[in-house]
Amino acid sequence: MKKTSVVPFSPIEKVEKWTIEESLKAYGVDVWGGDFFTLNSNGHVEITPQGAEGPHLDLYKIVTELGKQNVRLPVLIRFPDIIHSQMKKLSTCFDKAIQEYGYQGKYQGVFPIKVNQQSYVIKDIIKSGGSYNFGLEVGSKPELLIALALLTEPDRIIICNGFKDAEYIQTALLSLKAGMRIFIVVERLEELNIILKTAQNLKVEPNIGFRVKLNTQGNGKWMESSGFKSKFGLTASEIVQGLEILKEYSALEHLKLLHFHIGSQVPSIHPIKSAIREAARTMTELYQFGVKIEYMDVGGGLGVDYDGTGQSHSSTNYSTQEYVNDIVYHLQTICDENNSPHPHIISESGRFIVAHSSLLVFNVMDANLIEKDMESDFFFDKNSGKTNTAKNAFLIEDNTHAFVKDLYEIYKGLEKNPISESFNDLIEKKKDIHQLFIYGVLNLKEAALAENIYCVAASRLKKLTEGKEDYEEIFQVLTDELADIYFSNFSVFQSLPDSWALGHLFPIMPIHRLDEKPMRRASLADLTCDSDGKIAHFMNYQLWKNEKHLMVHSLKKGVPYYMAAFLTGAYQEILGDMHNLFGDTDAIHVSISKNGNYSVDHHVEGDSIYDMLKYVGYHKRDLMEKLHQRTEGAVLNGKLSREEAGKLLKNYSQALAGYTYLG
Ligand SMILES: *Cc1c(COP(=O)(O)O)cnc(C)c1O
Repeated sequence: MKKTSVVPFSPIEKVEKWTIEESLKAYGVDVWGGDFFTLNSNGHVEITPQGAEGPHLDLYKIVTELGKQNVRLPVLIRFPDIIHSQMKKLSTCFDKAIQEYGYQGKYQGVFPIKVNQQSYVIKDIIKSGGSYNFGLEVGSKPELLIALALLTEPDRIIICNGFKDAEYIQTALLSLKAGMRIFIVVERLEELNIILKTAQNLKVEPNIGFRVKLNTQGNGKWMESSGFKSKFGLTASEIVQGLEILKEYSALEHLKLLHFHIGSQVPSIHPIKSAIREAARTMTELYQFGVKIEYMDVGGGLGVDYDGTGQSHSSTNYSTQEYVNDIVYHLQTICDENNSPHPHIISESGRFIVAHSSLLVFNVMDANLIEKDMESDFFFDKNSGKTNTAKNAFLIEDNTHAFVKDLYEIYKGLEKNPISESFNDLIEKKKDIHQLFIYGVLNLKEAALAENIYCVAASRLKKLTEGKEDYEEIFQVLTDELADIYFSNFSVFQSLPDSWALGHLFPIMPIHRLDEKPMRRASLADLTCDSDGKIAHFMNYQLWKNEKHLMVHSLKKGVPYYMAAFLTGAYQEILGDMHNLFGDTDAIHVSISKNGNYSVDHHVEGDSIYDMLKYVGYHKRDLMEKLHQRTEGAVLNGKLSREEAGKLLKNYSQALAGYTYLG
């Protein structure tokens, strides 16, 4: 079993001397970073795309240098070397298990295109997957067309899954005839008839696979892909009928592959074991029937450890080698028990291959700071003798409402009164502020003053309870109360759709200042006008026990604060949507250059505002024309000068060509 990383509560507040080591633990980099992510002595995130032994890249340095190359934030950074490392890792694990157990078959991986269809990603997979004979898996006609054009070496496999029509099947069979190594996997019995008829007409010997509908169900968020009621695959009785159909066409020998897929991101090893055993049993039964299955395609499901805990849906409780060992071991055992030959093994791990390879870097634009450090900035007591110059808007005067004065008394008594008493009073008063304003008892100025006193008092109380075991609960409540909102330059809907749709956790953290103790807590709000457009759920790590907020550093005027969401390479790009018309971000491909430094191989520009408007049916000429009419009207009735009208038109047209995110 893998290590589990959640250790008893050890609050960050108790740490007096903050080092990089603390950041590693607080943000969990030591547990989710795996082979590819760590922190360096400058307090920056560091990436090792070829594994911990390979060259190190400073992410902060890359980001600060991007501006020079006209790359804008937010930016998606892809590391093709990571994809390569993952393919190598998976193949090596299989080779190791096969050798150790004396398994008779070989391993071949195929990459399921649906996990990341971006052309540069697929081209990278085809290029560096050559050493491991990686093929492609397609689940639809468009994906088939990608594979047919790009996968040129004849010994690399194309697996055709998904629902198929006659055109799909004919195209696949013609490509097979042309010399490509294509397997068509039957998802519904109707497809089998079409395959056999078409193959007869084309005089080609098809490679047929059956997708087995297992009774074993995966667990985790994507478990619906399997089990008796899933939408895919053939039940036992359909398999028996399928064999009859094959016999009619004298085509039993063309059934060469069995496939199953129990869902993506399977967090626990048990369903994987049961699935492989169930599928292996089906295979040995077919062998009794005279069908020799040459390939067992175990589908996807191999999970990625997004949080390092080993105990959540975003994690896995097994290592890659364990996953592989279980597949090889159980397949071999069942084959041997039933005197069946060992098939070659194909796996369709997509998430595992690409998840680590991309990350999204964004800047924090601004913050809504709730916790106050400097009390004198927020209100003044006229009798305290403090002079207030510019900011006398928040002044406690003789005629200030008694309620506000009470609140102020609580604040003044914080130091001498029992902490729990002050806390309860304060929480009670907070509830009242709102009500009294609505009832017309407090005017706007008094409500503002009360709000300020409350925030300053709560901040002070938080300091008084910090690190004190007796008041841990109060401290936690106040921490939540006073957490900031950091306004971040990205869209959750476009870049992290699974975070919004499924509550999936991605590691998110600042990429610099990690040698500094993060003194504030914040949730992240994105640029969309949707209240769901936020990240307010984080992992619990050592040193940190607060799921709603992330530790962050205070923002410095004029100094950018960069954060990144990691492990975003699987599914996020294509599932992302255009909510509020935020489009694709810029994307760059960074690889290790010969001298161990980095090179930017590709820069794919993100959508312009006009790209987005076009998509929803607006046309530039039309828009410009309409705006022109309006400005002309404004000039005629004297509201705008000619010069101002020209400026507005110029701004408009520049904005159309520009980025959808903030500059
Ligand atoms: C989606 C899918 C995969 C990819 O699975 P992951 O576990 O996400 O890598 C593999 N095979 C099939 C049939 C799929 O539908």
